[in-house]
Amino acid sequence: MDSYDVIIIGTGAGGGTLARHLAPSGKRILLLERGGWLPRELDNWLTESVFVDNRYVSPDTWYDRDGTAFQPGVHYYVGGATKMYGAALYRLRKEDFGELRHQDGISPAWPIPYDELEPYYTLAEQLYQVHGARGEDPTEPPSSAPYPHPPVSHEPRIQQLADDLAAAGHHPFHAPCGIMLDESDPPNSTCIRCANCDGFPCLVHAKSDAEVLGVRPALEHPKVTLLTDARVTRLETNEAGTTVTDVVVDRDGSEERFTADVVVVSCGAANSAKLLLQSANGRHPNGLANGSDQVGRNYMFHDSTAVLALSREENETAYQKTLGLNDFYFGADDVEYPLGNVQMVGKSQAAMFRGERPRETRLAPEWTLDRMARHAIDFWLSTEDLPRPENRVTVDRDGNITLSYTETNGEAKKRLYEKVKSLLGKLDMNPDHLIHRFAYMKNDIPIAGCAHQAGTCRFGADEATSVLDTDCKAHELDNLYVVDTSCFPSIGAVNPALTAMANALRVGDRLLERIA
Ligand SMILES: Cc1cc2nc3c(=O)[nH]c(=O)nc-3n(C[C@H](O)[C@H](O)[C@H](O)COP(=O)(O)OP(=O)(O)OC[C@H]3O[C@@H](n4cnc5c(N)ncnc54)[C@H](O)[C@@H]3O)c2cc1C
Ligand code: SF4
Repeated sequence: MDSYDVIIIGTGAGGGTLARHLAPSGKRILLLERGGWLPRELDNWLTESVFVDNRYVSPDTWYDRDGTAFQPGVHYYVGGATKMYGAALYRLRKEDFGELRHQDGISPAWPIPYDELEPYYTLAEQLYQVHGARGEDPTEPPSSAPYPHPPVSHEPRIQQLADDLAAAGHHPFHAPCGIMLDESDPPNSTCIRCANCDGFPCLVHAKSDAEVLGVRPALEHPKVTLLTDARVTRLETNEAGTTVTDVVVDRDGSEERFTADVVVVSCGAANSAKLLLQSANGRHPNGLANGSDQVGRNYMFHDSTAVLALSREENETAYQKTLGLNDFYFGADDVEYPLGNVQMVGKSQAAMFRGERPRETRLAPEWTLDRMARHAIDFWLSTEDLPRPENRVTVDRDGNITLSYTETNGEAKKRLYEKVKSLLGKLDMNPDHLIHRFAYMKNDIPIAGCAHQAGTCRFGADEATSVLDTDCKAHELDNLYVVDTSCFPSIGAVNPALTAMANALRVGDRLLERIA
């Protein structure tokens, strides 16, 4: 059986970033990824292939709490979900690391303060080449360095939106974007600033994803090995149940086994929980590292709504994700509890609407879908989803995932929508229409839209209420770590990837000390 210093299972935001951080150590590192390389092909940028045919979505079937089957919006490739992500690379707010009172209850504190993660946020912003501007967003947490790249400029209609918001007394800011755009030198810019970024793979590898900036740089080191199409099915332990001994892999139907001093799970929140639950044994009867009964629980994925407003003039923007607004993040003049983040989402295209449900167009019967797409200005509204023990991932004997989920903070989500709608008249938009949009996570982001999944193996100081310790090592095992969004005790209301990357770097430093 091949033996390594470290095995990393999953190569997305958590695993891919960790791989890059550990690679220069010269240790023997094995990356196990259930998917393959995402093919570079014209379909990467074809709206119908990506949004209508779901070409890059896994054929997995999961079940909701009533046993109804659905196809989750998950992507199994080298780089994981970051291959498709919008690369909006936000830090959580400093306050998100403390306890926050929400309309539906408490968002729990993280076991580490913001200040402990701050240097790793800075490093993650550098590794992932984030473009942004400090000092524009009043909710922005403190930072020890400027963004490594200047903000991506607004195109004219979005600049007008920024100006109109500012004139209305708001604080729009340049959103942090992970795209390799050099506006000062367009002929040599890797990114061509196209309209097919958010929810699409990048054909020219100019998106700051975990394949391009995590796995590929890691593989430049001779002792790093990647096995693709290698689905880990089970972790086995020594008799005492204290150490993971074997990592069991299914490759094209045949079983292979690997061993390592340190095993890191980073399969995404649902699949990491699944792997631990499926690895139950005599010492861990309810699932590996699950003495607390917390594995799979506290699933969160943001209360998100993709909406479009209809601009009076056509919106000719190509790359729309340059603006954010956090003025309602912690509440509003007339609302005491947090509402969430407002940002832009990739520009609507008529081809995307083919999957739209008819009731949405009833709101604007005089508008053809094509005209709607041309005038659309598209927003992404995210409200924090609170961790609930009953919102959970479970796995049956055949390995099928059931995702039991009931929405939290629904009132705050509604209030955020109303806040944005009330602004439209001041923003040169049709004041009556703020239309729910069929987007990559589908309208109203039902349970299948699990892009922002988090929270199933939360970390904490108390082993009775958490799965992982503050170093993200399983309380009950001496060589098992989890570095994906599973570890989040709460999710905040901004996108999760940069936090997963920063935390993987933090855990990576602990591992470098351990394996030195
Ligand atoms: C369309 C879309 C848009 C998004 N936009 C943004 C955005 O703009 N900003 C942002 O911050 N976040 C965004 N996200 C979310 C972000 O991509 C995720 O939060 C992040 O990638 C999660 O990182 P992770 O390491 O937890 O999991 P993933 O990145 O999903 O990685 C998990 C990896 O594990 C592999 N795997 C799973 N099971 C196994 C197994 N049993 N054996 C081996 N390998 C396995 C998977 O194939 C995958 O490669 C978006 C996501 C999607 C889908
Ligand atoms: S905007 Fe840039 S990074 Fe995004 S898909 Fe287009 S070329 Fe790639």
